[in-house]
Amino acid sequence: MKQSRALIHTLREVPKDADVVSQQLMMRAGMILKLAAGIYDYLPLAYRSIQKLQQIVREELEADACQELLMPTVQPAELWQESGRWQFYGKELLRFKDRKDGDFCLGPTHEEVITDIVRRTVKSYKQLPINLFQFQGKFRDEIRPRFGLMRGREFIMKDGYSFHVNNEDADREYWAMFNAYKRIFNRVGVKFRSVEADSGAIGGSFTHEFHVLAGSGEDAILSCDSCDYTSNIEKTECPTLKWGYPSEAMLELKRAHFCTPGIIAMEDQARAFKDENHDGLPLDHASKFYLYRVTKGEDTWDVGLVIRSDHEPNLVKFRNFLMADSIELVPIEEAENISGTKSGFIGPIEIDVPMYADNSLDGAYNLTCGANKTDYHHFGFKPDRDLKQFKGFFDLRMAIEGDACPRCNKGHFQAFRGIEVGQVFKLGTKYSESMGCTYLDADGKESPMVMGCYGLGVTRTISAIIEQNYDDDGIIWPWPVAPYHVHLLCLDPSNNEVMEVAEKLEKVLEAGGIEVLVDDREGLSPGVKFKDADLLGFPLRVVVGAKGLKDGIVEIKNRRTKEVIKVIPDELLDSILNLRSRIMQELEDAKGR
Ligand code: ATP
Ligand code: MG
Repeated sequence: MKQSRALIHTLREVPKDADVVSQQLMMRAGMILKLAAGIYDYLPLAYRSIQKLQQIVREELEADACQELLMPTVQPAELWQESGRWQFYGKELLRFKDRKDGDFCLGPTHEEVITDIVRRTVKSYKQLPINLFQFQGKFRDEIRPRFGLMRGREFIMKDGYSFHVNNEDADREYWAMFNAYKRIFNRVGVKFRSVEADSGAIGGSFTHEFHVLAGSGEDAILSCDSCDYTSNIEKTECPTLKWGYPSEAMLELKRAHFCTPGIIAMEDQARAFKDENHDGLPLDHASKFYLYRVTKGEDTWDVGLVIRSDHEPNLVKFRNFLMADSIELVPIEEAENISGTKSGFIGPIEIDVPMYADNSLDGAYNLTCGANKTDYHHFGFKPDRDLKQFKGFFDLRMAIEGDACPRCNKGHFQAFRGIEVGQVFKLGTKYSESMGCTYLDADGKESPMVMGCYGLGVTRTISAIIEQNYDDDGIIWPWPVAPYHVHLLCLDPSNNEVMEVAEKLEKVLEAGGIEVLVDDREGLSPGVKFKDADLLGFPLRVVVGAKGLKDGIVEIKNRRTKEVIKVIPDELLDSILNLRSRIMQELEDAKGR
């Protein structure tokens, strides 16, 4: 392909509205254009990478007997009403009416449509298992679309769904897809982790996310430095902590005017505190209290959570534990009304709602907490002794870096940031039951199929690859997803000999399976061409110029290592194939295991 004929619009300046590196570089390299918030044009260079990634995904899934299809983007409301999600899916679901006043939505995901396809076409156990996937533009009206393709409103997803006669077979497929995802991300050339993730309140289901490790990642991941346990912080199990002060005399509960009224920051309070046991209070003696409103179906009720002041509550764990639909803080004015005091002094003892405490307070005493009166605190607080509706100690906090690993009891957690690029999910019979997707077994008995679903964010993965592969000059594409493999720069395109050699080399390379973009643009200095080549970041750059040809050589530069070699034109293909083998070997060596 000649660059003079290509739509590649590079920018020198960093676009103002680009927040992360991948977005900046994709905009500067002319890969994407913003059409509206969270909606992008995928220009030819981006689309080449997208198609390559899709091909890798396709090959690995087809190797596991998955079949590709394509479902419509526009979905009728009736299907979503059947599954019960029409009401419950939030505003991310873009609902609209057609000219006949029928309700429709733009598909954010396709469980309903695929379940409808399978219930209409599969009747017998003999037709199972099946695993169907598609590549498709999804629409989710995200509240805060940002970071370019990373969190778009319209984005390309590979979504796959499998149907089985029983749990065992669905589990087998789950692990087959888990392994396929590992192969895919290894082939792509990114550093990633498979991560235990939250599966919501649906009992019996389980799920893993795949995260590309990058500082710009929106998710926090904790990984044990000794065993394989890696999880999304939303889900990370906490170690059981023992109360660290067993020799302290246990005090009676007392409400007291705090010695430094007006000081609200927990650390300052603790530092200023004195009693018969302490001169300055360790932070794990101070407790924090949160008042939450829980909803489940039509029911709403308030609950309290007591945790150590140096810990943070984990609302995903709490919501799952309560098997609730949602849980959120009681609005501050209401909490102040209920407690009769200002925020900062609200405490659990006088408030009569079900109270839960985090495991790390099991056995703890001599704690402080707000006393529901301005500038007053309780001292000598012991949750299981002093709370009226005390329900017990449970794992309800966020794990933190350095926490001991509760799985192996040897290692400690290390923290990473991750970009969620894929998720595999055991769905069970949630959709097949509500939508009547059943099969007949050998005895003619009818049962709901057991389902799994497997998502992979294609456009988000492209961004994530760039987040891990760039330098000050631009993108550094891993070979398998690079838009082109070689950027062949003609330094003097008006010189006939240069163009002839360049065109000959282009043909030779293409015949050898190497994809080439020839920069044949006239009137540009070598400096401009070098800068553009670095920005676009194809793995190898070849320079053909009048000066080099006089000496009988062309020059190859490895974009990642910056290594330069000079070869005679006849040997270019062999040298490039050797370099490709080396690059692919380096990818193989860096494989996540
Ligand atoms: P997130 O938690 O980031 O909102 P999700 O868990 O809701 O994502 P899934 O329903 O699991 O997303 O979708 C499968 C995959 O689709 C995700 O792993 C992610 O790679 C991709 N994806 C989801 N939402 C977006 C988005 N708004 N923009 C780009 N890719 C997305
Ligand atoms: Mg997900």
